[in-house]
Amino acid sequence: MSHYDILFEPLQIGPVTAPNRFIQVPHCNGLGHMRPRSEAANRAIKAEGGWGIVCTQEVEIHPTAEISPYFEGRLWDERDLPVHRLITESIHKHGSLAAIELVHMGHHSANNFSRLAPLSVRNTPVDSIDPVNARAMTRRDINDLRKWHVNAAKLAVDAGYDVVYVYAAHNMSVLMHFLQARVNNRQDEYGGSVANRVRLIREIIEDVGDAVRGKAAVAFRLAVDELIGPSGIEATNDGAEIVSELAELPDLWDVNVSDWSNDSATARFQPEEGYQLPHTEFVKSLTSKPVVGVGRFTSPDKMVSLIKGGKLDFIGAARPSIADPFLPNKIKSGELEKIRECIGCNICVSSDNVIAPIRCTQNPTSGEEWRKKWHPEKHTTTNQPEHILVIGAGPAGLECALQLTNQGHHVTLAEKATEAGGRALTESRLPGLSSYKRVADYRMGLLKTSPLVNVHLQSELSATDILSFDINHICVATGSSWCRDGFGRQHPRGINTANSKTTWLTPDDLLSDNKLSDEVALNQLQGKHVMVYDDDHYYMGGVIAELLINHGCRVILATPEPLVSAWTVNTLEQHKIQSKLVSLGINIQTSRTVADINEGAVELSCVYSGKSIHTQIDAVCLITSRQPNDSLYQALLKKQQEAGVIELKTLKCIGDCHAPSTIAAAVYQGHRYARNFDGGRTTEQYLDSFEREIVSIT
Ligand code: ADP
Ligand code: SF4
Repeated sequence: MSHYDILFEPLQIGPVTAPNRFIQVPHCNGLGHMRPRSEAANRAIKAEGGWGIVCTQEVEIHPTAEISPYFEGRLWDERDLPVHRLITESIHKHGSLAAIELVHMGHHSANNFSRLAPLSVRNTPVDSIDPVNARAMTRRDINDLRKWHVNAAKLAVDAGYDVVYVYAAHNMSVLMHFLQARVNNRQDEYGGSVANRVRLIREIIEDVGDAVRGKAAVAFRLAVDELIGPSGIEATNDGAEIVSELAELPDLWDVNVSDWSNDSATARFQPEEGYQLPHTEFVKSLTSKPVVGVGRFTSPDKMVSLIKGGKLDFIGAARPSIADPFLPNKIKSGELEKIRECIGCNICVSSDNVIAPIRCTQNPTSGEEWRKKWHPEKHTTTNQPEHILVIGAGPAGLECALQLTNQGHHVTLAEKATEAGGRALTESRLPGLSSYKRVADYRMGLLKTSPLVNVHLQSELSATDILSFDINHICVATGSSWCRDGFGRQHPRGINTANSKTTWLTPDDLLSDNKLSDEVALNQLQGKHVMVYDDDHYYMGGVIAELLINHGCRVILATPEPLVSAWTVNTLEQHKIQSKLVSLGINIQTSRTVADINEGAVELSCVYSGKSIHTQIDAVCLITSRQPNDSLYQALLKKQQEAGVIELKTLKCIGDCHAPSTIAAAVYQGHRYARNFDGGRTTEQYLDSFEREIVSIT
């Protein structure tokens, strides 16, 4: 008898029975209909890991709403069935139920592929900035939409799905557009009152129910609150009325908040697990049907309290299931310390937005299940164990050491700092980034219990030290440093930093290993005019600006991009970041590059006109680019090349020391080193070729 047993009780949903209380709710993964084998394998691993129901991502039901250039699912007609059968079979193989999310995106799609005019509740420009308008649906279009849902639902059952979703969430579906009073301006029986705006959804849930009767359950995914106050759907207003109208109609309620940036809020903006519950928990009181909700749930005790407390019937997860596909099984077997907790960084989301296969900071195997046959929990153990010295216990070194030991090798891990974690640890001290520490905590927690690894902290190694050891596999993971001269995209020759009146800083000065010294550096800047110059465009510029203003500095944030932290549009944070910095009173100068900095003043020039403005500053924090800390690697390489001096079997450099990138990339590189490690029996540099999904011309 375990405290967690309640999470493993089956529950009936319409005609099907979920084996437990874990649902991998719909999430996109950049695989979709273009990478079907990868898609199937990515879902199958969740089923294997114990998720009782595993859902697809959005599945387009008709070419009048296709989300090109992105790759989601597609079920337009019978020709799409083989892909879906592959998905359902891969899920069923592990005893889980397969669910599909049927979607018509309305004016969220510009139909760049099909070139059909998008359909919407009204005449309106599409959501993207494509020069495309959607046209208002006629009565005939509405009937067609109902037929398309029925057709797709029948195909879904034919493909083997057990749960069929009707979708009105994220502001990305025509059904949600019908619900929104500010969008739906119809004068017919589908516009006006809540009862009228709900009418089409009621019809479609009934239609789909008839189409799948007895064979599959019908789930309804609804955004019960748009978090924009009375102009949108609010839980306390329209949201509750909509739920009341449809209360007993679906077999399963899947409820969340809108838009996607709120549903998949990053830990920087929603640090608390269960952040959606205050908006969604009312749903249980209005229906007798089971309810699933999300909120980056990773804590088993929290899950139990939600089910016992009657707040939810199912624990829904997208990101926690990506970070740890085996989360349910680990809870069941009591291996809680092995749970790889999501850090809420949205690197996974960014993959979909840049139309690339999914990746995850915590789980380097995500998206690689089919093409590289990487399994998050299963490892081929070696029968020829070797001893590897890993230098640097940042994300790359830690993951490398962990995976090497998983494969049965011996590891000595040396780290110069007093604590392991590298940039995952230091950056976790920045505003909103505390969850980054989980990258280090998870790995150190497991390494501490491994008999195969020796971790040495406060051990800064030189090439001479290393060569004195009797270890002949060296993996250098010594990280990177922010450039001190402003070198970057805008300044390929750097910025002239040779003037004494200005204090020159980089994030490394404020992120020292020693917790006190960053405070000292910051205190010295109190009341001073500090310019953050961001030519990096990910999160660092924004968080450093926030850190500085929190410490009483007068902050200017200048960037050559038209948006602050421009790349964070891909992690769904950009709007939130810029809003926060504006509200904090940071002087934001976009589309400006540094022309010159001289004796206490900066000249910022407009990237379009070249016109300059002068501003007094006391200090500059340059966030432009990073360079590898590879001097140790280069010294070892040199010695290795001096014949006879050293006989290293293998010498590699990984992570930021190889090529600075995201923490996710460093973890991936560490993992890849271990997977490819063969004790130097081959000299091939790039061992990890991967399977490709090639379009078959038959
Ligand atoms: P990555 O993201 O590639 O893991 P990090 O910068 O996060 O890179 O981590 C690199 C780690 O290497 C840091 O914790 C740093 O203290 C450590 N390190 C750097 N040089 C040495 C060295 N010579 N000996 C031991 N550890 C080192
Ligand atoms: Fe969580 Fe980040 Fe992994 Fe996404 S990429 S699942 S947010 S840890």
